[in-house]
Order: sequence, then structure tokens, then C-alpha cells
Amino acid sequence: MSEQDRTGLEPQSIAAAHGVASDPAFGAVAPPLYMSSTYEFAGYEQPRAYDYGRLANPTRDLLVEALAQLEGGAGAVVTSSGMAAIDLLVGRLRPTDLVVAPHDCYGGTMRLLKARAERGHIRLRLVDQGDEAAYAAALAEGAALVLIETPSNPLMRVVDIAALAARAKAAGAAVAVDNTFLSPALQQPLALGADHVIHSTTKYINGHSDVIGGAVISADADQAAQLRQWANVVGCGGAPFDAWLTLRGLRTLFARMEMQQANAMAIARHLEAHPAVAAVHYPGLPSHAGHAVAARQQRGFGAMLSFDLVGGAEAAKRFIAAVRVFTLAESLGGVESLVAHPATMTHADMGEEARAVAGIGDGLLRLSVGLEAERDLIAGLESGLSAC
Ligand SMILES: *Cc1c(COP(=O)(O)O)cnc(C)c1O
Repeated sequence: MSEQDRTGLEPQSIAAAHGVASDPAFGAVAPPLYMSSTYEFAGYEQPRAYDYGRLANPTRDLLVEALAQLEGGAGAVVTSSGMAAIDLLVGRLRPTDLVVAPHDCYGGTMRLLKARAERGHIRLRLVDQGDEAAYAAALAEGAALVLIETPSNPLMRVVDIAALAARAKAAGAAVAVDNTFLSPALQQPLALGADHVIHSTTKYINGHSDVIGGAVISADADQAAQLRQWANVVGCGGAPFDAWLTLRGLRTLFARMEMQQANAMAIARHLEAHPAVAAVHYPGLPSHAGHAVAARQQRGFGAMLSFDLVGGAEAAKRFIAAVRVFTLAESLGGVESLVAHPATMTHADMGEEARAVAGIGDGLLRLSVGLEAERDLIAGLESGLSAC
């Protein structure tokens, strides 16, 4: 689609302008939105670049190209949700194939993997990604696909992608990293040895809490082409309007990330010094167990963090009733700040026992830090904390 040669441009430039001024019909600067489901053939046995919208759409392809370039991949598939992106990889596997996934992976991912395993579509091993022996044992069973999530949700545990990927590949497994929490602006797993990157573009890539979408970006062109075909087989491609909105959101990804993570760092420092707070989980703090690995493999520490209140469940309840500026909601990565209570919201399905094993207490709160002014964010949290 894109007429201009943009090879060699910095990632910020790709995000800001991929597909700009590429409209052959009218020279539109903002890429047009093509809603058509089907395309006229030029004549007998003469299809054009596009024939049917399930396989490919010009608007969606601009997003595909931009995401592939931002992650340093050979190609990508844009899907209707982050879950569809994960299932694009998992749903193609065979009943004998083993998937190794983190025991504290995103709740929706857990539900999908368990559902597929229960139906006999895959074999599944859930491991603590930080436990070397458990990881080695799972790989030794002959893993076909290893899923990695870092930083993890909601405790922001960080694992070394290069080390885990090297071991998985030595064992013959493909490696997919869910990069939703950082976006390509802050972490590029393919450069660290992963085969695929997964995104819920619902989060930072779109960034405005108004689209559900996903993507898989692959390092290898042949793999990318196979996934594109599989997306056509199962029909999980993203809608054109969603792609158009997501491309619009992507324009400001780098600027948003920079300001949101600066706000998150200020908040993490403030919370760490607060008497009502027992622990802060933010990879940007030197006290965080994954700080050194995060500093090495990430370009920034991101805008997600969580913290434990000294007063437990009761304090969390009072905090939520009194907090300002932050909206009580699930999801993350938007321009507006959100607060979630994992034990009763995102991680309620897990059950109390599994939460205790994972370290998700009743006094844990998760923040997705947005673009509001730092002093308003801190004042908003202070109203909550003073009620604890
Ligand atoms: C939200 C999320 C998903 C699922 O994406 P949807 O767009 O909601 O389907 C997957 N992984 C992570 C880490 C997420 O935060």
C-alpha cells in the first residue's frame, strides 16, 4: 500500500507515519478506511491485489506492516482480539503438541489453554517461568510451543527472554512472547530470540480504550505467511474500522509510553515511601527483583505497577471508595488511569488458594498509569491512601 520508501526509518517514524500519503485515488494524507468485503476482478482470471476481506484488507494491512516493522518481524497477522491472536498460534497445534505456559499468565490465556487442553486439542504444562528446574522438566517433555509473559500480571515479575528462548529453541520448541504490557516501544522480543510476538492491541498499541484487537508478529516470513493463511482458514482477522482506529492510536504510542512511564515511576517512588503501603511491584524500582533484567532487556520500565496495602482487604475496599482520578476498571494501557483489585476482578476466577500460591493478596491493587498530570495522579492516590 505505502508508496513512499520508509526503509531505515526509526521506529517512532514508522509509528507516526506508516501509510501516510499513500492513497493512490485522492492523495489523502490520513490513510483511507476501506470497508468493502469484496473487490472487483480486473477481468477473467485477473484478481487484483485484494479479492476478499477475510484474507486481507488494505486498511488492516497498513497496521500489519507497521506492527511487523515495529517488532522487527518479517510479517504479522492482525486479529479481532488478543485472545484470537493467542489462539491463532495454539489452535493450529495438534493433540500431541505440548504447550508450556507461565502458571501466572493472563487470565484469558489461562482459560483458553485449559479449555483447549481439556478438549484434547493440545497438551499443557503450566510452570513458574522463574523456576529453572520446572522449566527444564517441561521442555524435556518435548514442548512444541513455549509462551512467555514479561512483565507478568499483576505482580510485574520479569524473566530473561533471551535465556528462556535459547533453552526452548535448543529443545526444539517455538517461542511466543506476549508483549502486551510493554509494547514494541519498550521491548522487542524477536531481537531477543523469540519466534513470535503476541499483542492485545486493545491495550497500549491502540491506547484509547475503544477497540478490542490483537496481533501476532513473526520473525520468519514463511511462518508469517502460514499464520496469515491460518487466519483466513479460521476467519479471525480484525475488522477494518478497528484496524483504522488502532493505526490512529499507534501514531502516538512512543509519546504516550514516555509520559505514562514517567508518571508510573513517580507514583512507584511515592508509594514506596508511604506507610500504608507494604510493597510496591514496579520493575523501575531498584528494590524490584527483576530490575536488572528489565534494565537490560527493556527500553523503559512501562506504566503498569501494583502494590500491597498494609491493611489487606479492608484497606483495599476503603482505598477504592476514596481514590480519585483513577477509575476502577479492568484492562490497561489507555490514556486514562485505571485501578483494579485483582483478587475480586481480573483474578477472581483463579480461586483463593491459587491466588495465595501466586502471591496475589486481598490487599493488592494494580494501576495502569495514564497521561494525567503527575500531581493530580498522586493527589488522587493520596485520597485513597488516607482512607486506608
Ligand atoms: C488483555 C490481554 C490479553 C487478551 O487480549 P484481548 O484483546 O482482551 O482479547 C492477552 N494478554 C495480555 C497480557 C493482556 O493484557
